[in-house]
Amino acid sequence: MIRVAILGATGSIGRSALEIVRRHPDLFTVEVLTGHRNVELLRDQVAEFRPAVAVLTDGDVDLPADGGSSRWFSGREAILDAVTRPDVDVVLNALVGAAGLEPTLAALGEGKRLALANKESLVAGGDLVLEAARVGGGELVPIDSEHSAILQCLEGGTPESVHRLILTASGGPFRGRTRNELAKVGPADALRHPTWDMGAKITIDSATLANKALEVIEAHHLYGLSYDRIDAVIHPQSIIHSMVEFVDGSVLSQMGFPTMELPILYALTYPQRVADDALRTFDPVRASPLTFEPIDHEAFPLFRLGVSAGARGGAAAAVYNAGNEVAVQAFLKESIGFLEMCEVIEVALDRLGGHPVRGLADVLEVDREARILTAEAVRDGGRSKAGVGTSP
Ligand code: NAD
Ligand code: MG
Repeated sequence: MIRVAILGATGSIGRSALEIVRRHPDLFTVEVLTGHRNVELLRDQVAEFRPAVAVLTDGDVDLPADGGSSRWFSGREAILDAVTRPDVDVVLNALVGAAGLEPTLAALGEGKRLALANKESLVAGGDLVLEAARVGGGELVPIDSEHSAILQCLEGGTPESVHRLILTASGGPFRGRTRNELAKVGPADALRHPTWDMGAKITIDSATLANKALEVIEAHHLYGLSYDRIDAVIHPQSIIHSMVEFVDGSVLSQMGFPTMELPILYALTYPQRVADDALRTFDPVRASPLTFEPIDHEAFPLFRLGVSAGARGGAAAAVYNAGNEVAVQAFLKESIGFLEMCEVIEVALDRLGGHPVRGLADVLEVDREARILTAEAVRDGGRSKAGVGTSP
């Protein structure tokens, strides 16, 4: 039995993970479930999966009176206790945003396998996360479909044999639109993703391609390649989940119809593969055609901004990530337009991007300051009106 803690059980990835657990009762038991505010859903999940511990991270939400046989806790700190429990083998981190960083560090520091969907923790605290895994003996296995694809392509290969990673991107709902056309799009348009059904934040990130920048940074930390050896290409069908080019020119890819259940199952059982009838559906004819396009950097500047923040090192990626979280919320509330998301993040990057990072306290501080600066820029109506130059 693999004993699992699912952080963010009430979200899109969390619910998919529970679907996997539901189909494989002989393989998995659930020890911990966490949600943020959705008490009703978490209570239903707890009633079905009977974890030892249930956590509601938003301390303002009342715990349910009828919590069943599980022990209920509230607040952010409770997650850190839950992930380090001795009865947990695998921590599946499906929280959204940099809120996932401390649970990531705690799980790896305690020597757990971390099945990581929460890419923001690796973007904000990459070096710290790798250090926590090294010191604590934890194991980092990605759930992100691109990184799961790369992991699968790398099976049996040596690090020296890898020349380049090629991440695929669906292109999101605005693929093919010009920068001018994007000036007028709103949240309802951006939330309509063509191939993936996901939480709101990553859906907006997919529309701006910030998600692909976060994934390039994630790949850099996971696979140790320099940024000039990690490329991204638009692949609208989302059938090829990523590719690895080897030194001899051979290219391997991993394919399948888009479902997050496959990379979730693989992260839980890696390096084993487990039979799952529900996932064996591939049909190359039905998947055809497979096409590829370059990224339009003028229309989607958040991709390049994010990759350059990653390559800059220090605090820049954490600033980009925090600024992006604030910008996405502001866009969802219609406080700023689609293109202004890039402008307000640049304000924070200009001011804080050069800061060094020596430890967790620095990351948390720079994350806090970046949120304040980005929120100010949102109030000021973007970069141009904030008096720090004009947008590109
Ligand atoms: P979601 O919004 O559907 O779910 C997020 C979960 O985190 C919910 O359970 C929510 O209650 C909880 N949460 C929200 N804010 C929190 C906070 N401040 N503290 C603690 N818990 C909080 O998001 P999702 O789509 O499931 O994505 C989760 C993570 O997985 C993200 O990092 C995303 O980038 C990544 N991811 C998602 C997909 C996908 O298909 N949905 C694919 C690849 C990677
Ligand atoms: Mg992905």
